[in-house]
Amino acid sequence: MEETRPLKLYFIHSLAAGHMIPLCDIATLFVSRGHHVTIISTPSNALTLRKSIPSHPFLRFHTVQFPSQEVDLPDGIENISSVTDADQLVKVFNATTMLQTPIQNFVEENPPDCIVADFLFPWVHDLANNLNIPRLVFNGFSLFTVCALHSSSHSSISLLSPTLPHPITLNASPPKELAEFLNKYLEMELTSYGLIVNNFAELDGEEYIRYYEKTTGHKAWHLGPASLISRTPEEKAERGMKSVVSMHECVSWLDSKAENSVVYICFGSICHFPDKQLYEIACGIEASGHGFIWVVPEKKGKKESQEEKEKWMPEGFEERNAEKGMVIRGWAPQLVILNHRAVGAFLSHCGWNSTVEAVSGGVPMITWPVHGEQFYNEKLISEVRGIGVEVGAAEWSSIGFGEREMLVCRDSIERGVRRIMDGGDEAQEVRRRAQEFGEKAREAVGEGGSSHNNLTALIHDLTRLRDAKLLSPK
Ligand code: UDP
Repeated sequence: MEETRPLKLYFIHSLAAGHMIPLCDIATLFVSRGHHVTIISTPSNALTLRKSIPSHPFLRFHTVQFPSQEVDLPDGIENISSVTDADQLVKVFNATTMLQTPIQNFVEENPPDCIVADFLFPWVHDLANNLNIPRLVFNGFSLFTVCALHSSSHSSISLLSPTLPHPITLNASPPKELAEFLNKYLEMELTSYGLIVNNFAELDGEEYIRYYEKTTGHKAWHLGPASLISRTPEEKAERGMKSVVSMHECVSWLDSKAENSVVYICFGSICHFPDKQLYEIACGIEASGHGFIWVVPEKKGKKESQEEKEKWMPEGFEERNAEKGMVIRGWAPQLVILNHRAVGAFLSHCGWNSTVEAVSGGVPMITWPVHGEQFYNEKLISEVRGIGVEVGAAEWSSIGFGEREMLVCRDSIERGVRRIMDGGDEAQEVRRRAQEFGEKAREAVGEGGSSHNNLTALIHDLTRLRDAKLLSPK
């Protein structure tokens, strides 16, 4: 029957772990339904992806050469999570634009039935139009945040439009360039067939789904959380990058701790705090008296002694906290950690993946947004859904290596941690709600759940478009 002929889909991911990981996980959902998927990647990113994505006869990778020489980057640095300074960050962005020609050539030679591309590749619009195939877009944000961004596009201030379903004031104003950049790319998304969202409908909420459809006339497909897609523990541990600690080491350390007794602290793949901020975190977490796993990104590329490198570490900190705490210098197996019963809270920068991963594990959050769209995510977590508390961050810096003027002081960090970890009415209520959303997340991806049904409907639509050739001629 025509209806059952598999679709041929191409996925084009951006060169940032936070976008690449969920989009490629979502690609495998189509494979699990019997469709043929090609992930278009670069050599080093494909190598990383293959470690966390199981091989399957319907899934293949097509790699295009990364222009290392043209942009003057060392071999193997093909992702903004691997850069060592702001200069390299810009070079990876420049390289992204240079991928257009090789990707376009490949797609034109072997056209698929549909292209799913990160929003940082807006030129896919013309390519898809010329081939008369639908284009779906992925931007890595929650739909709540997309709505908030659209609503703030006319003011670009922290007070969001009163037409949003909740009255929301952000704790900081976005840098002007970021607001302009996001608005430009979000507008371009609206010319696509639809938006793919790594979230489940219940967390964004019907009110925001309706708001989005009403204000933009565009369709969003909630297919997540991507982190709940079935993987072996080993594949989960290798998600995004090679961990510097083994999964077994983390798990056996956590096994020795009481339920909900450990705070997990991690600020994603591209946040580099100055030493004095790291020092405040160390003091704050120690003063709280709670157990912790703290991920501190490794200072790459700098030839300093261990002591010089770790000026942020209070004297004797690790010795005093040898029982209670674990410092991971570099990449951690986050998914494995967040799903351990000993983890009772997540002090997080509110990157969208980290947020939806915490929600999936039923872990309450202590929110500390830093850059990107994270100040919007914070509001969904704290005020709208009540699954976290705010630490009080009020400075919105630029991505990666942005200068910071304001520190979040040790007292605020200690207070934030205690609000969840000391127990009490507020903590109990936040934990109850976090666990409730965790259950809803698991239901959403199961047979008959909202994300499962959305995928069925999307596949049906794409099949219908292909078979009936309903797309309007260019
Ligand atoms: N991550 C990880 N180990 C780390 C740091 C990050 O596995 O040590 C993963 C995390 O699980 C998430 C992604 O990297 O899937 C980070 O994405 P997010 O959107 O939270 O933040 P970003 O890095 O984009 O700021």
